[in-house]
Amino acid sequence: MRKDVRILLVGEPKVGKTSLIMSLVSEEFPDEVPLRAEEITIPADVTPERVPTHIVDYSEAEQSDEQLYQEISKANVICIVYSVNNKKSIEKVTSHWIPLINDRTDKDSRVPLILVGNKSDLVEHSSMETILPIMNQYQDIETCVECSAKNLKNISELFYYAQKAVLHPTGPLYCPEEKELKSSCIKALTRIFKVSDLDNDGILNDNELNFFQRTCFNTPLAPQALEDVKNVVRRNMTDGVKDNGLTLKGFLFLHTLFIQRGRHETTWTVLRRFGYDDDLELTQEYLFPMIKIPPDCTTELNHNAYLFLQSVFDKHDKDRDCALSPEEVKDLFKVFPYMPWGPDVNNTVCTNDQGWITYQGYLSQWTLTTYLDVQRSLEYLGYLGYSIIYEQESQAAAITVTRNKRIDLQKKQTQRSVFRCNILGAQGSGKSGFLQAFLGRNLQQQRRIREDHKSFYAISTTYVYGQEKYLLLHEVMPDFDFLSEADLTCDVVCLVYDINNPRSFEYCAKVYKQYFIDSKTPCVVIAAKSDLHEVRQHYSLSPHEFCRKHKLHPPQPFTCNMTSAPNKDIYTRLTTMAMYPHSRLRCMCACNRCTYCLCQNLLKLELLRSIKAQVCRVVFNRLLSGWRLWRGCLLSEEDFILMQHVSAISSVEGPSL
Ligand code: GDP
Ligand code: MG
Repeated sequence: MRKDVRILLVGEPKVGKTSLIMSLVSEEFPDEVPLRAEEITIPADVTPERVPTHIVDYSEAEQSDEQLYQEISKANVICIVYSVNNKKSIEKVTSHWIPLINDRTDKDSRVPLILVGNKSDLVEHSSMETILPIMNQYQDIETCVECSAKNLKNISELFYYAQKAVLHPTGPLYCPEEKELKSSCIKALTRIFKVSDLDNDGILNDNELNFFQRTCFNTPLAPQALEDVKNVVRRNMTDGVKDNGLTLKGFLFLHTLFIQRGRHETTWTVLRRFGYDDDLELTQEYLFPMIKIPPDCTTELNHNAYLFLQSVFDKHDKDRDCALSPEEVKDLFKVFPYMPWGPDVNNTVCTNDQGWITYQGYLSQWTLTTYLDVQRSLEYLGYLGYSIIYEQESQAAAITVTRNKRIDLQKKQTQRSVFRCNILGAQGSGKSGFLQAFLGRNLQQQRRIREDHKSFYAISTTYVYGQEKYLLLHEVMPDFDFLSEADLTCDVVCLVYDINNPRSFEYCAKVYKQYFIDSKTPCVVIAAKSDLHEVRQHYSLSPHEFCRKHKLHPPQPFTCNMTSAPNKDIYTRLTTMAMYPHSRLRCMCACNRCTYCLCQNLLKLELLRSIKAQVCRVVFNRLLSGWRLWRGCLLSEEDFILMQHVSAISSVEGPSL
């Protein structure tokens, strides 16, 4: 909203400009007035629209042309005053005042004009007949009003219209010549309709209308009012109401009606509530709310945001096959000004047999965007109307900023749910295959991917000790000399070599020694294409010897050349390593049967928690009964020791192996 409104009154001498201002201020007609009234400021709380309003007078006798021009350029709205009993003053409106103002203002940012016919007390007839053709001729004339400073008729209305012309201008919404909404306004209202149509059936039913009404105007519509609105539409068009709900056509018609009846503020309230500015663009504050992301923190969507995205998915998955067909994707993004997802997205996330993005894949892509580019995620959520539908302060309410990774490492615990694994390896070593296999695609399926639809990311979920986590794989271009900070920053690293290519391991060894030998990031060597014949690597150490020397796990054989979907164990292992990077001693199985897995499960899951809870209960009961018996005494030494045990157990949370 604007900070204030500046209203300038111009017109021929003696038409009553100064008297109008004085009448407004003192609520009585002044018999004598100065040539020019001092500028007055009406405080926000006494104006109908709650904005400070400055009213500025003009006097030809007191002011130079230069001063007039300056005032014109400062004004937000200009009232051209004439006297209804003075023909010459009316003629001057078109012959002098409108051209003078237009010459001094930008074509694209014309100030709204209001024609004011003063001294209506002196005549019987109205000047409207003369004025209407002028209004039709000049688009910038917002409205006209006849008033009398003497009778105090329409004085406050005049200033209210002026204020409204600034705060709720017609220009961006409506084309008076065509008598219809402008295309940008139709676009914005159509988006609003689609966002509010929660079940996506093309009709706003009573529930949706009520929600819309409450969102925009803070009050629900009374049942009768709801019927009245629909009846108005029914009377005026055949397909404005369908199945007792409002269609898009009906919705647009209602807004046209509001504007034609001078109720622009209704349409503007709706537009502003949905994030639009005066040019009908979504505001920066709406799309990009402030969000602070300290270093070493990552960004994730929170539970609420996932629920919202789930509802958006459900709303567009019309055939309920848990995947979005190309048509459904197109429909989903109709509320966007552009198509945000290219064909590469289908190769970044899980798809079904037809290659359509599944529910899981859809959520994964959102997770990826939020992780890699949170601003973009905020923008997208803005287009979908997250903060409006979920009644949040801003889109930022959808985001969790995780705590600093260094604290996670210190505490050996993490609350994060997205982990990043960078995949490094020589050209052709099998990195892309490794990414695609995570999405369940074997080599044969991967061969169908077009080169220009290729993605350097793959994201999906894995389960680590019963918890669902996202693993984000990123294929790093094998340009050894140009590995950037971003190429190296991740939670776990895969060094991929091709067992069939004797020159491929050297790259892994060099990258490891150059960048990861002293780093805390866990590294895994992947022996890719394990279905092929293994050849001796041209490197001083064999991959196994290299791993042993550097205390890495032995190379993990991997292949995606199979008829079924590739095995996913490796991805679970990578996620586990990403989550618990400090666990140096680790089996690589995640089998849930070996000692390591059992210990992990024990520590992480129910048993320990229930023991802890029981000990707490025992201690608490003892303390309570002790307190009852020896009220006022200090704790016994025994109790004190018990208390210490409880806190010791509390601190054994998480897998601190
Ligand atoms: P300005 O030069 O445009 O500022 O006009 P003034 O406010 O000085 O008014 C010029 C004359 O018109 C004064 O004598 C006023 O008393 C008179 N006047 C102003 N408004 C009205 C009105 O509404 N009705 C009548 N009858 N006279 C008015
Ligand atoms: Mg005057």
